[in-house]
Amino acid sequence: MRVRHKPWAKEKIDQYPQYVVANPEQYKGKWHEVFGNNHPLHIEVGTGKGQFMTEMAKANPGINYMGIELYDSVIITALDRLIEADLPNLRLLNVNANDLAKYFAKNDVDQVYLNFSDPWPKGRHEKRRLTYKDFLKLYEEIMVDGGEIHFKTDNQGLFEYSLMSFSKYGLLLKYVSLDFHNSEYEGNIMTEYEEKFSEKGHRIYRCEVKYPN
Ligand code: SAM
Repeated sequence: MRVRHKPWAKEKIDQYPQYVVANPEQYKGKWHEVFGNNHPLHIEVGTGKGQFMTEMAKANPGINYMGIELYDSVIITALDRLIEADLPNLRLLNVNANDLAKYFAKNDVDQVYLNFSDPWPKGRHEKRRLTYKDFLKLYEEIMVDGGEIHFKTDNQGLFEYSLMSFSKYGLLLKYVSLDFHNSEYEGNIMTEYEEKFSEKGHRIYRCEVKYPN
């Protein structure tokens, strides 16, 4: 994804540590202190501009959400949404998903969302795909036993690769749709990319997979 550099983004993020958590390593194993409750924690890895997390947090006040995004110039839009909505059950993390284990301990996270993850189509970039086996191990290290990954994409190649990767890793396939927007699923919340690609007529793929209990 091409990202436009915004030199002021970092400064603005630093002004809102209550929304974009500053020094997140200090909360490893105790995220309930940040939210002030023991509700389940669902994270979106690669949250982009945060539309999905914001709408999910509004719809489900009994669940805590965290949007994780590498680029400050992208997460800044998620921050603007959060400032406006002022949701007690949503926080943002401006970090690289490679480092998740620095910020979360085993059992900190109940569910992982991956939405329209960068496909990295070249074989030599396989390790960067957020459904590569090393990432599946990382999610397992921070999630509860029996935790789930919910994955949406318009990229058929990435979807097929990910189903293989999940299956090889030993995850249970709970739900799969090869044409999600024409399925009977109700209550879908759209991401920015989902809106953009479905308007262009792209087919949307979705699955839910589960780690062993
Ligand atoms: N999930 C959003 C959506 O569906 O609209 C954004 C999708 S966008 C194609 C993928 C996002 O993942 C980008 O904003 C990118 O910066 C972020 N991303 C990719 N690799 C990441 C990583 N290793 N750690 C954190 N964020 C990452």
